[in-house]
Amino acid sequence: MRYISTRGNPPSTADSSGPTFCQILLGGLAPDGGLYLPDHYPQVSRTELDQWRGMAYADLAHAVLTKFIDDIPLDDLARLVARTYTAEAYGNGRVSAQASDITPLRWLEPPDPAQREAGLAILELSNGPTLAFKDMAMQLLGNLFEYVLARQGEEINILGATSGDTGSSAEYALRGKKGVRVFMLSPHERMSAFQRAQMYSLHDENIHNIAVRGMFDDAQDIVKAVSNDHAFKARYRIGAVNSINWARVAAQVVYYFKGYFAATGGIAGSNDQQVAFAVPSGNFGNICAGHVARMMGLPIGRLVLATNENDVLDEFFRTGVYRPRAAAETSATSSPSMDISKASNFERFVFDLVGRDPAVIRRLWAEVDAGGSFDLSGTPFFARLPEFGFVSGRSTHADRLATIRQTFGQYGLMIDTHTADGLKVASEWRTPEMPMVVLETALPAKFEETIVEALGCKPERPPGLQGIESLPQRFAVIDVSVDAVKELIAQGVHA
Ligand SMILES: *Cc1c(COP(=O)(O)O)cnc(C)c1O
Repeated sequence: MRYISTRGNPPSTADSSGPTFCQILLGGLAPDGGLYLPDHYPQVSRTELDQWRGMAYADLAHAVLTKFIDDIPLDDLARLVARTYTAEAYGNGRVSAQASDITPLRWLEPPDPAQREAGLAILELSNGPTLAFKDMAMQLLGNLFEYVLARQGEEINILGATSGDTGSSAEYALRGKKGVRVFMLSPHERMSAFQRAQMYSLHDENIHNIAVRGMFDDAQDIVKAVSNDHAFKARYRIGAVNSINWARVAAQVVYYFKGYFAATGGIAGSNDQQVAFAVPSGNFGNICAGHVARMMGLPIGRLVLATNENDVLDEFFRTGVYRPRAAAETSATSSPSMDISKASNFERFVFDLVGRDPAVIRRLWAEVDAGGSFDLSGTPFFARLPEFGFVSGRSTHADRLATIRQTFGQYGLMIDTHTADGLKVASEWRTPEMPMVVLETALPAKFEETIVEALGCKPERPPGLQGIESLPQRFAVIDVSVDAVKELIAQGVHA
């Protein structure tokens, strides 16, 4: 499998000269500023679906990932996924979790053939060490990084920006890993107390937390600026683990298969049954993996994209206009991990939408990168949108509170604010013939304030995380400044 850039360099060529999986694993953007994608989507046959259906999570991950990775020996990859997807790592989140399932499916409304009702379920993706779905990919990334760096005898400095969950997830995946230093930017005082405590209370020598006096997008812009300084990037071997990293998207593809099998288990001829997935979305990384799974041939009937008040993606899927917002136009909401004004993975989907023409992407993102917008309404591209299965909706703070209350009252299940956004929009797109699977992106324990507001009581917290807010915290605070970040990296490396 060779990889190409959405902006054309490395190009999509017949002589398969592009980079391999391990060659793009440690980097962020492609050299031309585009995002990496496989040069074609590997297809999954019905026979393979039959074989994969009963597999344990680690074996399924191996089966899916070997379609994207051909430069790690099969046995080594098997060991890496087996070490990653364990009941120990994914059993902490919830006392009731069937830990060995890794991603248990929980029916809120089981399928009811008599009522011709296909069912509504939540796919638990938040049982990892930081209680958010990002652990699903990040834990694997940590092991892949260590393996590839050791093989190549190299070191790397990971630079990232987080609105909350990516940062802690990356730090828990990379803490103590040989050959890796982490420099993680976060918006100062804009994460929940629990999220701050999770990150800032880590005292591992290779973990550096940097709080930026600005929004998430300011932090992300700094990461982009540092990465675009090619001399600095080469000198300090800067790598990325933010959601544009292809390996993360690839790892996330696995749970769409797992969720599909779980949701269709009781259905005759189940591998023909279409399933809808509802995905609380921000940077478009999670749902991009669903798009990839669908392109591989998994029968996903509908991809339901849910945003919060920061509805830049909902606007695109409704109108064809992609209009990234300025930082001042981005609201701080009670589903903060979706407070995104531009969606960094979105370019991957648009590349497919425009028939994989890098010239079109260069033209569209010339506008976006200059702070503008583009409008695909009235173009043949927008007319093709239904072929890709996407629909969308938005959710507000009041919707979140109502959904959390209703879900607790009706099903006895406490959900977090992001999952509530997903469930709210999912309920607008349910149809009787297709099971609807809502991806759970975090546990309520991460967003205590809003749960208390909705339910009047605190969510339960896994034993290991009690009192985490009172642990000593270690982080630097800086203004929105590229140079300040470069200086911290240089200090950290030479220390
Ligand atoms: C990161 C995150 C999201 C958004 O996922 P994207 O891949 O950025 O679309 C939603 N909910 C939670 C809890 C998250 O951590």
